[in-house]
Amino acid sequence: MNGSRNTWNKVAPLLALVLGARPGMAQEGAPSAPPVTPLVPPVLALVEPWPADHPLQPALATVRADDLRDYERWLASDERQGRCAGEPGNDEAGDWIAQQFEEMGLAPLGSDGSFFQPFEFSVRGGERGLKATTRNVVGLWEGSDPELRSQVIVLGAHYDHVGTTSSRDAGRAGRPTATDTIWNGADDNGSGTSTLIEVAEAFAMGGVRPKRSLVFIAFSAEEQGLFGSAWWCANPTVPRENVVAMVNLDMVGRNADRPVEMAAVGSLQDDLWRRLVDASRPAAPDLALELKDHFLPDSDHASFIDAGIPATFFFSGMHDDYHRISDSWDKIEYERMAQIGRMATALLWNTANCAEPFRFAKPVFQPRGRGKRLGVQGDALADAARLAALGLPQEHGGYLVETVLPDGVGAKAGLVAGDVILSIGGKPISSDDPNVSLRRLIAGAAAKEDVAIVVLRGDEQVTLTARWE
Ligand SMILES: [Zn+2]
Repeated sequence: MNGSRNTWNKVAPLLALVLGARPGMAQEGAPSAPPVTPLVPPVLALVEPWPADHPLQPALATVRADDLRDYERWLASDERQGRCAGEPGNDEAGDWIAQQFEEMGLAPLGSDGSFFQPFEFSVRGGERGLKATTRNVVGLWEGSDPELRSQVIVLGAHYDHVGTTSSRDAGRAGRPTATDTIWNGADDNGSGTSTLIEVAEAFAMGGVRPKRSLVFIAFSAEEQGLFGSAWWCANPTVPRENVVAMVNLDMVGRNADRPVEMAAVGSLQDDLWRRLVDASRPAAPDLALELKDHFLPDSDHASFIDAGIPATFFFSGMHDDYHRISDSWDKIEYERMAQIGRMATALLWNTANCAEPFRFAKPVFQPRGRGKRLGVQGDALADAARLAALGLPQEHGGYLVETVLPDGVGAKAGLVAGDVILSIGGKPISSDDPNVSLRRLIAGAAAKEDVAIVVLRGDEQVTLTARWE
C-alpha cells in the first residue's frame, strides 16, 4: 500500500519507453527517497502534468465538470424514477446513454447490432421466481493498431439504481418523506455513469485512438445482484479471450477531502495496475489515490474478476446518503469527478497501449475498513412489507444473512445463511437504515466478552453468542 511512490523512479522511465510516451513524463528531479505516509500514498507535489503536446491532451481537455453536472442532473432527476432495472425510468436512461454513444461516434456493440444487450434477471425483493428484463448499453471505440485492436479494455459503470417506494428492489435504505419517494441515486451510480460517458466522449471528441480498442459498458441490474456485468462476462459481445482488462466506476462523486480508493489492483501480476496508475497520474496530478490490492465483491468489477479478467475499481467512499432518497445531484463534487474522469481516461490510454503481458492474479478478498466485523454478507431489510411478513414491528429492522465468511466472528457464533439478525448485544437493528445500524451495533459491541446475537431462523428466535477478541 505504501510502496507505490518508492517504485516511481524505477518504473517511470521504463513505462515511458514501453508506452512510447515522451521522456518528459519521467519526473526529472523527483527525490530518490521521498517520504511515504501510510494511507496517503500519492505524494502529489511529485506529479507534474503532461506537457501540452502529449498525445492524450486533446482528450483530457474535453473532460469538464460542467458536462458531468449536466449528465448527472439528467440521470438523477425525479423523472428517471430512481432508474430501477426493469422499470420505465431505467429503460429511458438506457435509451439516452445509447443516444450519447451514437452521437459521439462509438460503434454499437450490443448483442444484435444495436447498442443494447437485453437480459433477464431475478428481481431482488420480488416474489420468488419473479423475473424482469433490462439492458446493458455497449459501445466500441476502435483502436489504431491493426494487430492489437482486436483486444479490448472495458470501462464500465452501472446506471441502474433502486427506484421508488413502489419498486420491488429491496436495496433501499432510509424512509421516503411526504414529498419525496424517489431514490435518485446521484452518486450511486449517476456519478460513474456520467464519468463513463465523459471519458468515452473524451476519446471520441479528442480523436484519440490508443492501440487496443476500448469498450464502454453501462451495466444494468447491478443493484439487484451484479446481473448486468455477470451477463456480459458470460455472454461477452467480443471474443472472451480478447478482453484484456476492465476498469469500473461506481460511486465517484463524493468525499473530495479523502483519497479515491482503487481496489483490486492485485488482479494483475507484476504490480502492473499500480505501474499503469502511476504512469497515468500526470493526467490528474492533484487527485489523491489509495491503491488496494484486495477487493470486495460489491460492484461490477467482481464479475470480471470471477471470470478471470483483471479489473480495478474507482470508488470515492461511503456517506450517509448511500441508498437514501437524499443521494441527490446537488451533493456531487463535480471538479473532483472531472479529475477522476481524466485519471480514468489516462489509465485506459496507458492500459490500451501497454506492451507488457496482462497476467491475471486472483486478488485477495478483504472487507473494507478496520475494526470489528461480523464476517457476513447479506441484505438489509427495511421494507415494511417484508418486515411485517417476518412478524416484526415497524421500527424494527433486520439483516438477512446470505453468506457467512469462513473463520469470521459470525461463523464462529454459528450464524448460517438464511438467518435474519434482529439484535446485537441486546440492541435491535433499526428499520430506518439496517446497514448503518448493523455496522454501528457491531462497532459498539463489547470486545473480549460474550455478546448475544438474536436471529430469526425459520419461525424461531435463536440466541447465538459472538466474541470479538
Ligand atoms: Zn448501490
